[in-house]
Amino acid sequence: GKVDHECEMLVLGAGPGGYSAAFRSADLGVNTILVERYATLGGVCLNVGCIPSKALLHTTSVMDEVKTMEKHGISFGAPTIDIDQLRGYKNSVIAKLTGGLAGMAKARKVKVVRGLGRFLDAHHVEVHLTSGDGQDLTDQKEVIRFQKAIIAAGSQPVKLPFLPDDPRIVDSTGALLLKSIPKRMLVIGGGIIGLEMATVYSTLGSKIDIAEMMDGLMAGADRDLERVWEKFNAGRFEKIMLKTRATKAEIKSDGIQVSFEGENAPAEAQTYDLVLVAVGRTPNGKKIDATAAGVLVDDRGFIPVDKQMRTNVETIYAIGDIVGQPMLAHKAVHEGHVAAEAAAGHKSYFDAKQIPSVAYTDPEVAWAGLTEEQCKAQGIAYEKGLFPWAASGRAIANGRDEGFTKLLFDANTHRIIGGGIVGTHAGDLIGEVCLAIEMGADAVDIGKTIHPHPTLGESVGLAAEAAHGHCTDLP
Ligand code: FAD
Repeated sequence: GKVDHECEMLVLGAGPGGYSAAFRSADLGVNTILVERYATLGGVCLNVGCIPSKALLHTTSVMDEVKTMEKHGISFGAPTIDIDQLRGYKNSVIAKLTGGLAGMAKARKVKVVRGLGRFLDAHHVEVHLTSGDGQDLTDQKEVIRFQKAIIAAGSQPVKLPFLPDDPRIVDSTGALLLKSIPKRMLVIGGGIIGLEMATVYSTLGSKIDIAEMMDGLMAGADRDLERVWEKFNAGRFEKIMLKTRATKAEIKSDGIQVSFEGENAPAEAQTYDLVLVAVGRTPNGKKIDATAAGVLVDDRGFIPVDKQMRTNVETIYAIGDIVGQPMLAHKAVHEGHVAAEAAAGHKSYFDAKQIPSVAYTDPEVAWAGLTEEQCKAQGIAYEKGLFPWAASGRAIANGRDEGFTKLLFDANTHRIIGGGIVGTHAGDLIGEVCLAIEMGADAVDIGKTIHPHPTLGESVGLAAEAAHGHCTDLP
């Protein structure tokens, strides 16, 4: 058949995994084509994920903080919200970053072919060209011949089959569109994405219920961290319904009427102006005809890979959300670099000792390496150092001393194996814990590191001291 383009490396999907892989590949001198359905690069993270959610969370956290200034003798009065302008700000943040990516692709001579790609065989992809917002398929198709490929086609929100089609029932993408501020909102799913969006909308004025099937929010985080978040947010939401499932939704004239089942289910169906479904994401492995290339895809749509991110097919790699949990942008980027380097003949492999998680809620909750729950479940002997922010000068000066910093050390080697932080800026602070774990630092290394005073970062050094005496050298 006809071939429209040829390249050494084809990258399918331009999210954080795909663009990182394509750029690294080009930097290594490999002729690279990037295939992306949408008009902008950046994938979920830049367009409908990490970045727009943080733009909104920044705005609402300032709104929340301003309210607390009354205690300091400063008042600003009630905010007036121009939702169109707020949406515009969020969109401008996205545009700045995706525009930056387009420039970086051009500078590296990475060719971007815009359309929906599917494998024809292990060396050909057919791209159905798209226009408009990326949903519109044109009648043009192009075939690309490649020597090697990296699959970075990502994931999409899980749908609940019993929910009807209605513009008032949305996933995270719909919630981030910020069409209006609902009076009554239901968030189904108390994970990080659901709680971040609930934080944004509650500050904007929505009355919010959260329904979570499991017996706790923010799965994955240690309960002591989550409890601080929960206590601080006690008044923020109407109802947090744990061990409760939404089971039915009906479209009524005055809203969406939702029925619940479970331990904390309200007896009556509840009516909402907006329902956000945030119950997880599912990989796109079954949507790209990977099997035509001989690539194995598991039942759930994940693509199994080895430590070099190589699939069962020697010349085809896969990275990011499509290869497994945790579905996080920084994991995708790291894997993208490994795959591009491995494909270019370098001895790179994925060997991360830790992948951090952050809920950018208020307060933020962040953790890296092993959690205390994982240590207990795996029978790992650990020692713990905990520094309460109630003893941090900076946290008190900030008026936000509810948090704490916790470090976990191997009881035998005293090397750090994990850490968790809850408090303002916890997501930024966890970076030091990530580095310490990767470097194999022990409690004395961290405790004897001079941190700037007065900062929240000091709490990391102080937690290490708390774990291991004060000035004793380790044996
Ligand atoms: P994706 O970003 O999903 O990109 C895949 C790309 O491939 C898409 O652009 C898609 O259009 C394209 N594509 C798919 N199939 C085809 C095809 N057949 N042809 C052409 N193109 C195709 N992670 C964090 O680390 N921090 C956060 O704060 C954070 N916040 C989030 C908030 C929300 C609301 C959501 C939804 C996610 C968030 N995430 C966050 C997760 C993060 O967005 C993902 O882990 C990350 O985007 C995965 O990157 P990826 O490269 O694997 O795939």
